[in-house]
Amino acid sequence: MHPIPFNKPFMTGRELWYIAQAHTNGHLSGDGQFTKQCHAWLERTTGTRRALLTHSCTAALEMAALLAELAPGDEVIMPSYTFVSTANAFVMRGAVPVFVDIRADTLNLDETKIEAAITPRTKVILPVHYAGVACEMDTIMDIARRHNLIVVEDAAQGIMSTYKGRPLGTIGHMGAYSFHETKNIIAGEGGALLVNDAALAERAEIIREKGTNRSQFFRGQVDKYTWVDIGSSYLPGEVIAAFLWAQMEEADHITARRLALWDHYHAALAPLEAEGKLRRPIVPDGCTHNAHMYYILLDSLERRTRVLANMKQQGVNCVFHYVPLHSAPYGVKHSRHHGDMRQTNALSDRLLRLPLWVGLEEHQARVLSALREAL
Ligand SMILES: *Cc1c(COP(=O)(O)O)cnc(C)c1O
Repeated sequence: MHPIPFNKPFMTGRELWYIAQAHTNGHLSGDGQFTKQCHAWLERTTGTRRALLTHSCTAALEMAALLAELAPGDEVIMPSYTFVSTANAFVMRGAVPVFVDIRADTLNLDETKIEAAITPRTKVILPVHYAGVACEMDTIMDIARRHNLIVVEDAAQGIMSTYKGRPLGTIGHMGAYSFHETKNIIAGEGGALLVNDAALAERAEIIREKGTNRSQFFRGQVDKYTWVDIGSSYLPGEVIAAFLWAQMEEADHITARRLALWDHYHAALAPLEAEGKLRRPIVPDGCTHNAHMYYILLDSLERRTRVLANMKQQGVNCVFHYVPLHSAPYGVKHSRHHGDMRQTNALSDRLLRLPLWVGLEEHQARVLSALREAL
């Protein structure tokens, strides 16, 4: 029997057709017809002020760091249990990540620990919506308002999820999505910056277009385009946008199929949770999620190591997730943490992710029986 991969990118079937259209259109650089369609889709489905496609979520976070106008030594409060880019985008501006611990239920930034970590140098709070399940955004936005801080949501995993009815990525001043092939809606490599604060929208366009006012020029708002600010090239070409458009058209369908897989895992694993063999994910009231990930928590690192190896032997590829950034070689030197990292250290050792991809339906029973066997 073939091994079951941890992830398998889902193609809708229209990607190549749209790429051929981009080819026929003859517009291959950024911001052509397909990019405009993707922008309009993102703005319509999320309600954000301005959506801008980027090469990656990493690029969108780098844009957010530029827009936040961080000076060297400024501090950004974020979880340590996250992907490297959450920190690096800001470290590249000379900022210092200040890690606070995560909640045991969602593995998201513990909002009750943020305020104590604020100093006169704090500029940004950076919640990461792990597994597409929202952080406690009302509390985070209230803290930010009282301390005059910018909120950037790392919603890399959060497209199509909501918090109290609001799409993730649209609640803070800015939000970043990823369309990496391991995410729900994909373009190979790709991302988007959601600019929710109208005051930042014009500068966001300029930073994305190499520090020029080219976007305004194409809209006829200025009669020549020129160098007006710092910036870089953050926009993807039309081939990527054409691929992504095929995925956006199917976003509801993709999400529904992932949710069915997630719900099936969740129901099937309830008895094992009742027996104390694992803990299932927790989705707080008021949050809807996009089934980005199905993880389980085991009782120790040793047990996880054994279960991973056993699953692999049975032909099912499972994976763990982040090495906490405060304990990574670069993090040890160039970041600090406020308060203890108890939950971060414990939960990161115990978490195991099960395969979840559109098309897994016919293999899911095998994953579950392998897991029962391994436990
Ligand atoms: C995937 C991911 C990123 C990076 O996304 P890219 O599009 O690969 O740059 C950043 N943050 C989190 C939480 C992610 O899951």
